[in-house]
Order: sequence, then structure tokens, then C-alpha cells
Amino acid sequence: MELTELQTESYRLTKEMVAIPSVNGTPGEKDIGIYIEKYLRSIPYFTEHPTEIVIQKLQSDPLERRNVFAILEGKKDRSKKTIILHGHTDTVGVEDYGLLKECCFDSDMLKEALKEAPLSEEVRQDLESGQYMFGRGSVDMKSGDAVFMALAKYMSERLDEIDGNLIFAFNPVEENMHTGMIESLDFLLKLKQERGYEYLFALNNDYTCPLYVGDKHNYIYTGAVGKLLPCFYIKGKSTHVGQCLEGFDASLVAARLVDNINLNTEFCDEYEGEYSLPPAVLKLTDLKDFYNVQTAQEAFVYFNYFVHDESIENITRKLINAAEVSLSEVKYRIKTSSKDYYQKAGMEYTPIKYDPKAYEYSEVLEKARKNYQGDFEKYIGEMILSINKKTSDVREQMMLLVKEIAQIARIEAPAMVFFYAPPYCPHNTLHKEIDKEKKILDDMRLVLQEIGKEEGVNYGICHFYPSLSDSSYLKIDDPETSIKALVNNFPNMKDYYPVPIDKISSLSIPALTIGTYGKDAHKWTERVHKGYTFGVLPKLIEKIIKYNLGA
Ligand SMILES: [Zn+2]
Repeated sequence: MELTELQTESYRLTKEMVAIPSVNGTPGEKDIGIYIEKYLRSIPYFTEHPTEIVIQKLQSDPLERRNVFAILEGKKDRSKKTIILHGHTDTVGVEDYGLLKECCFDSDMLKEALKEAPLSEEVRQDLESGQYMFGRGSVDMKSGDAVFMALAKYMSERLDEIDGNLIFAFNPVEENMHTGMIESLDFLLKLKQERGYEYLFALNNDYTCPLYVGDKHNYIYTGAVGKLLPCFYIKGKSTHVGQCLEGFDASLVAARLVDNINLNTEFCDEYEGEYSLPPAVLKLTDLKDFYNVQTAQEAFVYFNYFVHDESIENITRKLINAAEVSLSEVKYRIKTSSKDYYQKAGMEYTPIKYDPKAYEYSEVLEKARKNYQGDFEKYIGEMILSINKKTSDVREQMMLLVKEIAQIARIEAPAMVFFYAPPYCPHNTLHKEIDKEKKILDDMRLVLQEIGKEEGVNYGICHFYPSLSDSSYLKIDDPETSIKALVNNFPNMKDYYPVPIDKISSLSIPALTIGTYGKDAHKWTERVHKGYTFGVLPKLIEKIIKYNLGA
């Protein structure tokens, strides 16, 4: 196989894989795994070495999803240096395509259909340029998988030139829980123990895109943004609307809290000039089941919260502070509105005294443990089982558990209980203060300079891949104290989100994203740039491999 063939093969495989719907949480996730395995097994090297393809079925998964691995051991000098090349095989849903849903898995049909669709100027230009392939999963990231698959074939014919090893990994369930990557850690640890592999770094081929309108760069990311899901259970004092000034409305507290945190750039986390996006509210609800004329007694709010480098202790402190501010603002609002109203109405005003408080979950748990008469752990265990039957959403389950524990702790309203819920994605990047990491960074710069010149590409290097990705689970930069702050405020973490922090820490594999290039991932106009993704990207990866595995 020649390089040009690698490029056409990647294109062909992408088209075929887009045609296999593998929407997250559907049986197609199994189908795409089987397709990838079949392709890899058709490569002559793997026909001769069938045990170098490993299928790892996900634990107790009714959809029988699987990780697919292919291992290539170089024959030159046989060092243990190893590079992991990984991609996810699932896609997001297709509801956004509307009437075009029928053809979103057929890039040719979709291209024709799009000609008649209302498109923005930019999308129309891209469509007419012939430079893009459209379709669900085209840029995110079947083209990335396809490049790796074709590359596996290409490199399998050049093992004499490689001093070290390549592991190709194709993982399902990335778009929500990252289960594929999390379970693949066991396999990577096994190879480390049994074969003595030393992992240099991992390359994720997930999508890259312009970072602002008119951006002409291609980006390489030397790590991944972290994500937290801070949650607030709000306990107010309900009242009849006819005495609306006599309550402490949980909805009003929730509204203030959202206003204080949502899109607030004071929460952006800066690391070496790179800023994380501000928090975004993902849930805002009262806990009323039906209509009545009472104000809300309880509410529940949570946010997406990106992290670059800040410690979780600090973040927790800032969020608790925002909760306290919100509670005081509501207290003040009730006071001023009451005063104004009674004055206008010519009635006597007697202020109601409130002492609202914001608590961390860990404090509430401690209080509850002290108060409970009997076997607290047993009681909580039973409580969890009964709650889990009420709802399948893990965040709702955790909120109901927190509510229960707050009751035992005798937390008096008005109050807020703060906790973390899944997913938690660790952040990581390369640090120039650490020699080993600096070397990867310097080497990468050289390779990018070289290929940038050859191909006329203007590369930018960023610390953090800005979308959530599997790369989070290969290296964890949070120090122990920070992880402790998370675990302490994460109810029943061992069952609700058992992130194998120990395994990640012991592997600690620098996790870079090089990636496909295109636009509008997760939108119905998703499209991959053919020239870069099938033309330049395979050459870039080949160069990286040769540079690091001494060919
Ligand atoms: Zn992706």
C-alpha cells in the first residue's frame, strides 16, 4: 500500500462507515465494531497474526458494544516505546436533520438533497466547493477512525522500519459516558504488565474545526479540557400565592443562582493564556409534580462546568460562595418587596427572619451520620436501591438521595446543598516544566513546522481540546487534594460514576488530539474537509510515528 492508496482507502472507509448508523445507545454501535474488526482482519498481517486483534466486550452491556484493538509490533530494534491511536465509533443522534433524516447516513444522497435545502452562505459555499463530505459522523469522527484503519494496513507493511509499537483502539460510548475508553484502560494496563509497553502518548483523531469565524488555522491539542457537573438541591419554604411574601421561594433562589453562574466569565479558568468556556446551565427545575397554588418548596439546578487547571477545592469554594450570594439576594428581595408592598397597602410590616445557608454535601452527610440512630450505611444502601427504581436518570437519583440525607441531617430551609454528579472528565495537558512532556511538545512543534511547510497548513497548538473527549481518561492532572474535594462531594461515587482514578493515574498517558478537520459537528450540516482529512492528516500521523519510533 502506498501513501496515496492510504488516502483513497480512508475516504472509501469513511463513506462506508457513515452508512452504518452507530448513534450512541443504539444497536448500531455493535455493528460498527463488527465492521471495523472485519476490515482489520482482512489485512494480511492480521490474517497471519489473528491474536493481535483483540475484541473487548463492554461489561454487562445489553447492546453488546465492544472495544476493538489492533496491535502492531515494530521489528526494528524492538523497543517497548508505544503510541496509542484511538477514536470513538459512536455518533450523536440524527433528530436535527428533520426531513433530511432519511439520507443523513448516505453522503451522496445527502449532498443532492442539501442542494434544495435552506443553507447559510458558508454551508452553501462549502457544498458547492466539492471539498466537503456531509453526513452524520463524517467529521465526528468516522473519517478519523477510517484514517487509523487504513494507517494500520499501511504500517503493517512497514514493521521493519518501526522501533516500537502501535496500538489502534476503536471505542464505543464516547458521546455520553465514555465507557468504551474507561474499560479499555484494563487492556492497556495488561499490555503494560505482560509485554512491558511504555506508552509515549496517545493520539485521538477526534474532530477539529475553526475556533472562530474566518479562522484559517488547523489545531493540534496537547490535552483535554476537564468537566464537572456541579449540582444544587434547593430547599425553600413554600407558601400559598395568596401569602406570597411569606415564603422563601425555591424557584426564585434557583433563578438567582442561574443568573449568578450561567455564562459568567468570572468562572472561566485560564491556563497559559487559554480560557475555558464559562459555565452553562443544563437543568433548572422545581420539584412540584402537579399544578397547585403553592410556590415551590424545592428546586434543582445543575451546570456544565469546564476546567483547565483550577483545583476542585477552589471551584467548590467559588460555587458555594455563589450559592450564598444567591440566597442573600433572595432574602433581600423578599425583605424589600414586603416593605414596599405593606407600605403601599397601608398595612403594618413585620419582617420574617431567615437564616439561609449553603452546604457542601460532605458536611450534610456528616451531620446525617451523627443524627441517624442505627446502621446508617445499611439505611443509605437500601435508600439508594429504592430511589433507583423511581427514575433512570443518575442525576435525579443523586438529587433524591441528597434530599433524603438532608432530611436526616435536619437541614433547615432555606438552604442549598451542593454536590457533584456525573460525568466527571479529568483535565490534562502537557506541561513544559516536566522534561518528558516538554520533549513531546518540542518534537510535535518540529513535525508540525515541517508538514505545515510542505502542505501549506498553518498549525496552532492549544493545551486543551475544547470538546469533551475520551482523551480525558488517559491522564489526570488534578492533584490528590483536588480529587479528594470531588470525591467527598460526589454522592455514592463508587456506584454512580466509578471513574477509575487509580488506573488513569498509573497509566498517565499524554493524550493529544490531532484529528479530522471540518465544520458543524453535532449539527445537521456536519461535514468533513476531504483535502485535509484524507490528504494531509495521514501524512502528519505517519511523520509523528516515524519521528518518535525511530524509523
Ligand atoms: Zn467526537
